Amino acid sequence: MSYNYDDNNIFAKILRGEIPNKTVLETDYSLAFEDISPAAPVHILVIPKGPYVSHDHFAIEASDEEVLDYTRAIGEVCKITGVQPSSGGSGFRSIANAGQDAIQEVPHFHTHIIGGRNLGRMISPN
Ligand code: 5GP
Repeated sequence: MSYNYDDNNIFAKILRGEIPNKTVLETDYSLAFEDISPAAPVHILVIPKGPYVSHDHFAIEASDEEVLDYTRAIGEVCKITGVQPSSGGSGFRSIANAGQDAIQEVPHFHTHIIGGRNLGRMISPN
C-alpha cells in the first residue's frame, strides 16, 4: 500500500505559511487552527506537520515522536477550548475523515475537534 501525498493541498500551504490561519496551538510536530467554516462554536483542526494523507497513513508510518506529539496536541486543544467533560466542559467529537466514503476534502491528515453545542447522533442513517 502506498500513499501519495499532494504537496499542493491547502493544509500544506498553511504549514508553509502561504495561507493564513488562526492558530490555537503549535508544537514541534503538530499545528491546531480554527476551521474556516465552523460546524459548531468550537471547531478546531489538528494536523501533523509531516506529509501524511490520512489517519491510517499517519498511524502506520509516523514516528513515535510524531504520534505522541499529535495525541498530546489533541488533549491540549481540548483543554484550551474548554470542551473536556472532566473539567466542566460539555464534551466534543473528534473526527478524522479518510478517502471518498468519508468525503475527505483535504488530503492532509487532520482531526476535527468539534463542540460547544449538542452534536446529535454520530452518523446519519442514509
Ligand atoms: P475534511 O472534509 O477533509 O475532513 O475537512 C476539511 C476541513 O477543512 C473542512 O471542515 C473545511 O472547512 C476546512 N478548510 C478547508 N479549507 C480551509 C482553509 O483554507 N483554512 C481553514 N482554516 N480550514 C479550511
